[in-house]
Amino acid sequence: MVKGEQLYEGKAKKVFATDDPELLLVSYKDDATAFNGLKKGTIAGKGVINNKMSNALMQYLEKKGVPTHYVEEINDRDTLVKKVQIVPLEVIIRNIAAGSFSKHYGVEEGTLLKAPTIEFSYKNDELGDPLINDYHALALGLATQEEIDTIKKYAFKVNEELKAFWKSCGVTLVDFKLEFGRLSDGTIVLADEISPDTCRLWDSETGMKLDKDRFRRDMGGVEDAYQEIMRRLQAHG
Ligand code: ADP
Ligand code: UDP
Repeated sequence: MVKGEQLYEGKAKKVFATDDPELLLVSYKDDATAFNGLKKGTIAGKGVINNKMSNALMQYLEKKGVPTHYVEEINDRDTLVKKVQIVPLEVIIRNIAAGSFSKHYGVEEGTLLKAPTIEFSYKNDELGDPLINDYHALALGLATQEEIDTIKKYAFKVNEELKAFWKSCGVTLVDFKLEFGRLSDGTIVLADEISPDTCRLWDSETGMKLDKDRFRRDMGGVEDAYQEIMRRLQAHG
């Protein structure tokens, strides 16, 4: 594999072309942002942890029947993935009320929801990733009904698998964000990353936050939390 030109630099990752038109190299940075880029910082070692955690979870999900973009971990920060056309939806699943859900609906953070929820945001930084529903997604031509159905099916499957996985690590999966993409033949696969940047992960015993909320909310102990959640994942075996 030959690393080609940089195609994109995002808030958390850089994306490079490779000598294979179907493959990309993603490179995880330590940069952290919150509130649509308003808050900026660095979390030392985050890129390595997010790369390795995302790869481990994607491989786990593949085994459970969820197709993903994962191909091969190249080194601590770089991973080869299948190139997709990203479906511009942030797919958010929640098991426990937190963050914007608590704010919107007046539900105390930490309240167990009677059923998992799914919501879509239109992935568009200029608009601030507005919440949309299936009809908006169809009206805007972001995805077809068939794609939306597939994405929902995979998202709830990911939730069931990851809830059980994290439970066995002594961690509660509160909520998370997924992105999906289309391979060149149109097949929908899970893409982007699954990490403490994109999931809320709480210690099952103490409720301690082991995710990016420590950065968003200036709680301190950010690096330690990322290391601790990685240690839990590795202890799982
Ligand atoms: P952002 O764009 O929100 O700042 P990142 O820094 O994580 O986010 O940048 C990574 C970009 O790569 C994102 O826009 C994401 O949608 C995109 N991406 C993730 N996986 C793939 C893939 N397999 N193929 C093409 N693009 C991808
Ligand atoms: N999330 C994400 N990227 C975003 C927005 C949300 O990864 O651009 C994740 C976030 O880490 C959390 C879940 O999606 O696990 C739900 O976030 P919420 O809507 O509560 O947003 P916030 O409180 O961060 O504004």
